[in-house]
Amino acid sequence: MSGESPVYLDYAATSPADPRVAAAMSECLTRDGVFGNPSSMHPHGRLARARVERARAQAAALIHAEAQQLVWTSGATESNNLAILGTARAAARRGRHLVSARTEHKSVIDACRRLEHEGFHVTWLDTDREGLIAPERVREALREDTVLVSIMHANNEIGVLQDIEAIAAVCQEREVPLHVDAAQSAGKVAVDVARLHCDLLSFTAHKLYGPKGIGALYFAPPRRASLQPLMFGGGHERGLRPGTLAVHQIVGFGVACELAAAAWQRDAGHCERLRARLWQGLSAIDGVLLNGHPTQRVAGILNVSFSGIEGESLLLGLTELSLSTGSACNSDSDEPSYVLRALGRDTELAQSSLRFSLGRYSEEQDIERAIAAVTREVRRLRAAAP
Ligand SMILES: *Cc1c(COP(=O)(O)O)cnc(C)c1O
Repeated sequence: MSGESPVYLDYAATSPADPRVAAAMSECLTRDGVFGNPSSMHPHGRLARARVERARAQAAALIHAEAQQLVWTSGATESNNLAILGTARAAARRGRHLVSARTEHKSVIDACRRLEHEGFHVTWLDTDREGLIAPERVREALREDTVLVSIMHANNEIGVLQDIEAIAAVCQEREVPLHVDAAQSAGKVAVDVARLHCDLLSFTAHKLYGPKGIGALYFAPPRRASLQPLMFGGGHERGLRPGTLAVHQIVGFGVACELAAAAWQRDAGHCERLRARLWQGLSAIDGVLLNGHPTQRVAGILNVSFSGIEGESLLLGLTELSLSTGSACNSDSDEPSYVLRALGRDTELAQSSLRFSLGRYSEEQDIERAIAAVTREVRRLRAAAP
């Protein structure tokens, strides 16, 4: 392909699958492959069950969990919903208070909002100006009737990494279960459930070079937590998530996790170098601001505001780049990013941001093209402004 094809700078929205992932998946679809229903007891079913359980071990290994502690879901959105709604509803007789943060992914925020409609109270924590939550704020928010704390690991818009270990220590003191949305950190940084001391953790395949539509929830019941399922219809997945297992998706997820376990450090070093060059190039433009903590972050995400320029207008001129303003989920509304607003950016700066996200397949020439295109468009828009 020539330099004419658009540059992909949206790995935080989704990543292409590794060819080995695709090969393993297609082997689970056709008559000459492993197409059986893993719930069936006959030989075809048992073959499929073996593939599912191998994948469970591969996915568990990525986060240093035991295989039997994982429940398959359709992705991190479902994992977050199951963790939050499931824990809260199961504990409703004991307490109706949760703690989360304003910078969480919509699938956490909207699940908590749903609980507010059901009579729960949610304390929404603010971050500091760099996007970090002080463990002390979590401690202050805990109440006698708190049944869950849900705090993400890496933020999808700005890439900031929360200090989950410190937050978990606070939760453990009070025996309150902790849920962590690790969709942007699993396969990108070290994620070890024993070190993080979380009770529930969500992750998803398509952010780590696996297929879309498959994820997992790590669930290790602590003394005080149990989960109520969201759906009913069979005893699959410890009774927590009924339905025929999507064997091809699960197998693809497993292979992607095994590859990520071997590649994440190399990927991170690669992304780190490219991101440093990207920031060097972009920061030469007047009125450019970095959003989020400068170092406590994942390697692949760079979020930048361009003062005096609307992110949407900027994107319109950048047709040779595939990238997003703050978050993919809000792209059909003109609302400024709620994450950047929570960091204290004014509406104008929050609206003038772009999120560059890099990955395993990003190349130096992609970065050079991005710097050239953004510099050109910012100059053009500024020259055209009254
Ligand atoms: C992508 C993402 C999700 C949603 O994951 P899906 O698998 O697409 O449902 C949740 N949380 C974060 C932080 C994400 O980046």
